[in-house]
Amino acid sequence: MEPFKIKMVEPLPMLSREQRAAALRSADYNLFRLGADQVTIDLFTDSGTGAMSAAQWAALMVGDESYAGARSFFRFERVVGELTGHPHILPTHQGRAAERILFSCLLRPGQVSVSNTHFDTTRANVELIGGRALDLPCRAAAELDGKEPFKGNLDVEELESLLARGVDVGCVVMTVTNNAGGGQPVSMANLEAVRRVCDRHAVPFFLDAARFAENAYLITQREPGYESRAPRQVAEEMFALADGCVASLKKDAIANIGGLITLRSAELAARCRELLIATEGFPTYGGLAGRDLEALAQGLLEVTDPAYLRHRADTATWFADELESAGFPCVRPAGCHAVYVDARRVLPHVPARRFPAHALACELYLEGGVRGFEVGTLSFGRVLEDGREEEAPHELLRLALPRRVYTRSHLEHVVRSAAAVSARAGSISGYRITEAPRSLRHFTAKLVPA
Ligand SMILES: *Cc1c(COP(=O)(O)O)cnc(C)c1O
Repeated sequence: MEPFKIKMVEPLPMLSREQRAAALRSADYNLFRLGADQVTIDLFTDSGTGAMSAAQWAALMVGDESYAGARSFFRFERVVGELTGHPHILPTHQGRAAERILFSCLLRPGQVSVSNTHFDTTRANVELIGGRALDLPCRAAAELDGKEPFKGNLDVEELESLLARGVDVGCVVMTVTNNAGGGQPVSMANLEAVRRVCDRHAVPFFLDAARFAENAYLITQREPGYESRAPRQVAEEMFALADGCVASLKKDAIANIGGLITLRSAELAARCRELLIATEGFPTYGGLAGRDLEALAQGLLEVTDPAYLRHRADTATWFADELESAGFPCVRPAGCHAVYVDARRVLPHVPARRFPAHALACELYLEGGVRGFEVGTLSFGRVLEDGREEEAPHELLRLALPRRVYTRSHLEHVVRSAAAVSARAGSISGYRITEAPRSLRHFTAKLVPA
C-alpha cells in the first residue's frame, strides 16, 4: 500500500468517450497536442510531475530569496554534500542545463563521451559542443523480456577495447537508472568495474543521477551482498565512485523543477561556475528560487525512504503483471519509473511504418483517457532520402509513474482500459503522418488513422 495518505486533492478531468474522440481528432492524433484538462490519467512522464510532501510544502515557506548567499542554498548544499560526498555543488534550473555546462567545460570538440546509454538531452549536449556520444549498453539490454537483473549495465570489455585502441574518450557518464534502456538499473559491480577502467586510463567518471534512489533500491533487491543495506547507504556508495554528477532533480528529488552539478575537482568547478553565472544565475541559486532549493533539499532526504522505494518498485512490478494479464506484454524485469508495453506483440498486424506504439497510445486514450508516450518509430525513426521509413529498434508504449500521484485504483482503471483495447486489438489500424517537421517530429506531427 501507499506509505502516505492524501491531504490535498486535485479533481481529475472526466470526459465521455465522444469528448475524447473529438479531443483526439482536434489534436491531429498527437497526444502532445492534447490539453492536460483532456487527460484523465496522465502517464506521459515522471519528470516534474511528482507530488510534494507536507514537509516540502512547509519548506517552501521558509525559502530565502536573497540573490547571494541565500540560507536555502546552504541547506541544499549541505544535503547534497552529505549524500554525494562531492565538495563542489552547483544548482541549475534543470538537468539539461547541468549537462550543457559540464560538457562545455569538460569536453574538447572531437572527444568521445561514453555511456551505458546517453539520455536524449545528454546526447544533444555532447553533440552541441562538437563531441561524439557513444552508447555501450551491455548485451542483455537488447532483450526485452530477458531476465537479467541489471540490463542498465555498460559493456566494460567494449569500453576497455575502445581505450586500448587509443580513442580520445573525454568522459564516461553512467545513467542511473538507464532511462532509455527501459528504466533498468546499473549494478554496483558494474559501476566499480567502470571506475577501475577509468582510473587506468585517467578518464573522468560521472553519474547522470536523475534516478539515483531507484537505482540504489534495485541494487538492494537484486545484487548479492546488498540485501541488508539501506538504499541511502547504497546511494552514497554509488556517488563515492564518481568524480561528480549531473542530475535532473525533477525525478528523484520529487519536486517540479531543478537540476544539479556536483564535482570533486576544484579547477573544473571554477570553470563550470563561470558559465553558470553567465547562463543560469549566481552560484547560490543557479536559475532556481530559494524556495525551490528548500523543496529539493527536503525531497532528497525523503526519496531514499525504504518504505517509499519499496512501494514504488512493487507498484511498477504489479502494474506490469496486471497489464500483461490484460494482454499488454511489458519489458521485464520492470524498473521503477515506468512500464514499457511491447506494442509489436499487441498489434502484430501494424507495421513499424504505421507506428504501432502510437496507435496503442491513441487507443488507450480513447478507451480510458490515459496518456502514455510512444517510444518507437514515430519518436526515433525518420524518413530516409528514398522516402522509406527508418525503423526504431523497438515499438514501445511507455506508461510513466509520477511519484506519489496516482493510487492503485487509478492504475486499475488503466489496466481495465488496456484489457478493453487488447480485446479489440485486431480491428485497430495504424497511423500515417500528414504533416511533420524534419527533426523531433513526434512533438508536433499531425497524423490520421491509416
Ligand atoms: C530527465 C533526464 C535528463 C534531463 O533533465 P531535465 O531536467 O529534463 O532537463 C537527463 N538525464 C536523464 C537520465 C533524465 O531522466
